[in-house]
Amino acid sequence: MADRGKNLRIDAARLWQSLMEMAQIGATAKGGVNRLALTDLDRKARQLFTRWCEDAGCTVSHDAMGNIFARRPGRDDTLPPVVTGSHLDSQPTGGKYDGAYGVLAGLEVVRALNDADFQTEAPIEIVVWTNEEGSRFAPAMVGSGTFAGVFALADSLAITDADGLTMGQELARIGYDGKGCGGREIGAYFEAHIEQGPILEAAGKPVGVVTGAQGQRWYEINLTGQESHAGPTPMAVRRDALVGAAAIVLAVNRIGHEFQPGACATTGMIVSRPNSRNVIPGAVFLTVDLRHPDDARLAAMDKALRDAAKAAADANGLELAMEQIWSFDATPFDTQCVAAVRGAAQDAGLAHMDIVSGAGHDAIYMAGVAPAAMIFVPCKDGISHNEIESATPEDIAAGGQVLLQAMLERAGGS
Ligand SMILES: [Zn+2]
Repeated sequence: MADRGKNLRIDAARLWQSLMEMAQIGATAKGGVNRLALTDLDRKARQLFTRWCEDAGCTVSHDAMGNIFARRPGRDDTLPPVVTGSHLDSQPTGGKYDGAYGVLAGLEVVRALNDADFQTEAPIEIVVWTNEEGSRFAPAMVGSGTFAGVFALADSLAITDADGLTMGQELARIGYDGKGCGGREIGAYFEAHIEQGPILEAAGKPVGVVTGAQGQRWYEINLTGQESHAGPTPMAVRRDALVGAAAIVLAVNRIGHEFQPGACATTGMIVSRPNSRNVIPGAVFLTVDLRHPDDARLAAMDKALRDAAKAAADANGLELAMEQIWSFDATPFDTQCVAAVRGAAQDAGLAHMDIVSGAGHDAIYMAGVAPAAMIFVPCKDGISHNEIESATPEDIAAGGQVLLQAMLERAGGS
């Protein structure tokens, strides 16, 4: 019985065709996709997905956050479902694969099960999470986060876009305001996604077995010195805030290199005041983003940053105000779900490697309420959130096949 499941194959051409068809909704001239959350184009994508799922025999519903669930019943339909999916919204200059791949790989799993007349023991569900990107409505991953209880429903519905429209209003406008969100048992959650980084491509492996997500800490730093004339002020008496900031920028980069493997450390934003060519900068604002898959190592990076910032301030006679404004603990995925992904790749004879997610994904919130894991496939040059985002049909198919087998491992059936 289990053997019959292992022999099932997805239809690679059909999966690719569906991806290309979905990418026509909001297609941009440069070959990408512009499909912001809860726009008319998002509605069109949702409707196409719904039609495909209904054609595949699924029952389709949505919740109060507009998260869509397409359900293929199990032999024992009282079992908690094995769920897969991702998102259909995009960045304004997004690509064809980010999100849509995970959704349509899930659809292909259902279609392949239908073709083989295979009945799973537990029900299968494909989910489309609302507003994963966080581009039109911040923060990101708010549909899955609300489902997982990270955000309160009322707060999420009240989030506004730049024009002051709320998510609640826009959900109602496009016909995706439903009832309730979350609070039901999920047997397992799998998500297929492009890597959005260069590691798999460089290693020549079509499948990444995602073991978890990095912890993150975000900081805002204000350095205050003394503005004064760039000519008459001798070097010895200066309190140059930008020189202190420069020392911090270099320290952040050094910390990133020192805490390998796995560390990332970035100064992404810097504002110098008054930003005038003949004035010694009196105040600088900068942001720091530290990431590591191991919370203890991340805490050590935090200490190294604080020490470096204090040393930079002291050396330049500056006042230092430093605040950690956001943090996210490292999220290890469920060991059994990760093993199911690894085993599926092995069984399919696909080269694979363990990898840690550097970006946020719906699966990370889902890991808080269900056993979860992810499957990565390479994308060209590691580029994503860009219209030139690209992946090969072979790699797209590899991830879909692994998804099918990993889901069957958890859902059972014959
Ligand atoms: Zn995504």
